Amino acid sequence: MSQIIALTNQKGGVGKTTSAVNLAASLAQLGRRVLLVDLDPQGHASMGSGIDKHELDVSVLDVLLGEAKASEVIARNLPVKFDVLPGNGDLTAAEVELLDSKARQSRLSSALNEVRANYDVVLIDCPPSLNMLTVNALTAADGVLIPLQCEFYALEGLSTLLDTVEQIKENINPALSVSGILRTMYDKRTSLTREVDKQLRDFFGDALLKTTIPRNIKVAEAPSHGLPVTQYARFSRGSQAYRVLAKELIRRLTL
Ligand code: ADP
Ligand code: MG
Repeated sequence: MSQIIALTNQKGGVGKTTSAVNLAASLAQLGRRVLLVDLDPQGHASMGSGIDKHELDVSVLDVLLGEAKASEVIARNLPVKFDVLPGNGDLTAAEVELLDSKARQSRLSSALNEVRANYDVVLIDCPPSLNMLTVNALTAADGVLIPLQCEFYALEGLSTLLDTVEQIKENINPALSVSGILRTMYDKRTSLTREVDKQLRDFFGDALLKTTIPRNIKVAEAPSHGLPVTQYARFSRGSQAYRVLAKELIRRLTL
């Protein structure tokens, strides 16, 4: 059975999308069948996987609204080695369009049931807010992967996020758990990093992943080529780090 992992943090710019794309690519390179779901209206995960978000006839929004099946919208045979359920700016309408629909939290979950048997891992790139799209991701997910930057405000907002996870777990999705806390754009040389590291270890214990993703220019450049860094610059530090992360998650979650 496939595992569905939502990359979530309501803070923007912490490396959710970058990690979703590069983890998808690294897991695929290690032989896993991967689907990446782009649930952010910014459509950056789609773009970073070689899909032009402006050219979509149908998107994950149509799937959420029950107007298309996931299997009809999934993009296959891309330059990347995984499949993508693409999203774009149309998703901004999701909140309103889902307002008076039934079971609006579990739209994604139901839709993924149709296709999840074809994959070992489904990664969901969430928008930078705790809205109905994120609730759909958390309702569909088995695990939550939380990327964060080791900065002074890293922990701010995390308790709100963890409360949301807890609420979804209690009310809709009892199987949901935190798969890991991922430190991105990591620079271990600074004393601030060491201080935040300690706080994270004290707070999360075992959930803090061992692998950290360094700040690396190749990681930032790759999306402009519509490729994961693992294909754009496979020997870069960023690429290596995402490979190590994929291996850690495979062991940890038996993917
Ligand atoms: P989010 O999805 O959480 O908003 P992104 O993945 O879009 O965050 O990352 C925010 C910005 O930081 C992007 O411009 C991205 O290219 C850059 N970035 C992310 N991870 C790294 C990294 N390891 N090294 C360098 N730049 C990075
Ligand atoms: Mg993003």
